[in-house]
Amino acid sequence: MTESLLQKLEAEVGKCISCGFCESVCPTLSPSGYDLWKGARGRVLVAKELAKDLRSGSDGILHVSDSFYSCLDCYACLYVCPAGVNAGIVSHTSREIIASGMLPENENPVAKMIVSTTMKYLNPLGVREKASKWAEGLNFNDNSPDLLYTGNMFQLMPYTKSLNSLRNLMGRRMSKFMAGLVGKHPPLIGFISNRRDRDLDARMSQSLRNIVELLESSGLNVKYLGSNEPYPGTFIYDLGYADQFRIYAEKVTKILKDSGAKRIITIDPHTFDLLKNTYPKFVRDFDFEVVHYIDLIKDLDFGKSGEKVTFHEPCHLVLRECPYNSPMDLLRQTSEVILPARSGRKTRCCGGPNELLFPELSEKISEQRYGELRETGASRVVTACPICFTNLAKDEKTIEISDFLIEKLRK
Ligand code: SF4
Ligand code: SF4
Repeated sequence: MTESLLQKLEAEVGKCISCGFCESVCPTLSPSGYDLWKGARGRVLVAKELAKDLRSGSDGILHVSDSFYSCLDCYACLYVCPAGVNAGIVSHTSREIIASGMLPENENPVAKMIVSTTMKYLNPLGVREKASKWAEGLNFNDNSPDLLYTGNMFQLMPYTKSLNSLRNLMGRRMSKFMAGLVGKHPPLIGFISNRRDRDLDARMSQSLRNIVELLESSGLNVKYLGSNEPYPGTFIYDLGYADQFRIYAEKVTKILKDSGAKRIITIDPHTFDLLKNTYPKFVRDFDFEVVHYIDLIKDLDFGKSGEKVTFHEPCHLVLRECPYNSPMDLLRQTSEVILPARSGRKTRCCGGPNELLFPELSEKISEQRYGELRETGASRVVTACPICFTNLAKDEKTIEISDFLIEKLRK
């Protein structure tokens, strides 16, 4: 297993000619104060040294995990690299090597905490039951073959926002100590996840209810798992814990199968990408049809308002092997979309994936991105991901696509 990871890493970094083109698009480089280790080329060069050390059995292994954990997995670097290197894959493979236990001094306590709490509670913050509150009073159809799968993503945002404020109060060292403690004793997560940002909670709940209304308006009365709905395991996969992810994905698949669903309706880019492209590689009988809800509401009449809006395209929709951009297609039917200078395959990540491990860096990336979006002069900034929304909601001009579409539908 470790040998195959090492070979994969060597093959990817071996292509690099060190030209530095990737640095021009890497969203973590300038907000980190041009810390070269937190840029695409730096990650590849560090991984090259790491691979050499591992191959030679050197005991002077570098302490390099921040370089890899701070990578957003956005893949923007891939599309400018003349040698076809994906520094995102380099970072992910390096995280897998760290997670395999080969480099214990490089393990990150926050990453370990997230993995152990998710494995125990099927939710990274142990708030699975609370994550179903948004649906109170709604009528779902338990006999439907269509399952609305929120993956708890919208619901987690108010908790992660509060967690970051708490971390600012505690300071970095205390936070790492707490993370180490919770990693060993997952029930302690209750002490740090009992607070949520109430405004954001109300906003996210409304977005979820809007999605249900959009589906119902399209004639779809779906089923929903409520407090039994598990988180999809995105963090476990992204942090490189492949063995744990396989076990976790099998558990989630069993819950989805037991529901009797045939089609899984996802509502955020991370879950859509994970279920569509990664689950089938880890779970042999993952044979669901996986769709994004936007594809199911295309025939609704949202009218043509002519409003000038800008759209923050999510990395997991447009920077993957098979780009999928239905949210923007739909937006273009209703409004005039003015894209920022960095769009399409040059889109810039909102910084959200760094929110739990590198909150200060995440904040700086989001400010840079928000500035680019506002420079378009558009009246509003539309996002299509709860993580992007949370990171880019710098003022009232940012709106989640479900809220935007409901507003147009009701006019
Ligand atoms: S663009 Fe590609 S070849 Fe150039 S430094 Fe970056 S990874 Fe290496
Ligand atoms: S995947 Fe994104 S954050 Fe990571 S190295 Fe490439 S451009 Fe930078």
